Amino acid sequence: MTTALIATSALARSYAMGKTSVAALRGVDLTVQPGEFVALVGPSGSGKSTLLHLIGGLVRPSAGEVWVHGLELGRSSDAELVAYRRDTLGFIFQSFNLLPIKSAWENVAVPLMLAGVPLATRKARALTLLEQLGLAARADHRPAELSGGEQQRVAIARSLANRPRLLLADEPTGNLDSRTGKEIMNLLQRLVRDEGLTMLLVTHDMGVASFADRIVHLRDGMIERIEAVGRDGG
Ligand code: ADP
Repeated sequence: MTTALIATSALARSYAMGKTSVAALRGVDLTVQPGEFVALVGPSGSGKSTLLHLIGGLVRPSAGEVWVHGLELGRSSDAELVAYRRDTLGFIFQSFNLLPIKSAWENVAVPLMLAGVPLATRKARALTLLEQLGLAARADHRPAELSGGEQQRVAIARSLANRPRLLLADEPTGNLDSRTGKEIMNLLQRLVRDEGLTMLLVTHDMGVASFADRIVHLRDGMIERIEAVGRDGG
């Protein structure tokens, strides 16, 4: 247990709605080991995004604890959370969130710029990552000149720029056709296995979730069940 990368305990979050409050998450105990790929699934409104945002240090708990990499996020200062997100996490979004006027390599280098890495170093790192993701020939292209799958691969390269321990992905294939989505899922699965990363992914698509090692089913802000998916040995 002490080696867990993520450990939540009775984790809860409510949102004020006028005079009432909505319980988005109602006591979640979840442990994720380093190197695991875990999918969060459940109906709309079941609390998937809230749980992802709590673990991402973007939302604070109303009750309970959320430990990631030795830090209890609910008791951390804003500055500690900024450093935690910068140094420990990589984020992958449904809408890619690339800067339209920047080239692919400049987009990949954004987190390095924010971390104060010098230009030559960040360009070299960005180009290495793009090459790893099969995008060396696209380094100088802007997002609008790339396909959806290529844009998501640029976004994945960006998420890896700061050598994160934990990747948080929110419907990463939601804007892609099913074939491209499958390619992206294969890529993410390979990254987790080969680079020793840990990944938490939110999806409503069981086909996407099936790439994970474990599938956490949420319902009404609670864990309904956890399903182990056998690794296919590939
Ligand atoms: P999911 O990602 O599974 O669709 P969410 O975590 O987004 O679920 O939402 C869980 C519940 O919390 C929903 O009822 C939603 O309306 C509510 N909720 C989420 N975020 C907010 C917010 N910022 N303000 C008010 N209610 C919210």
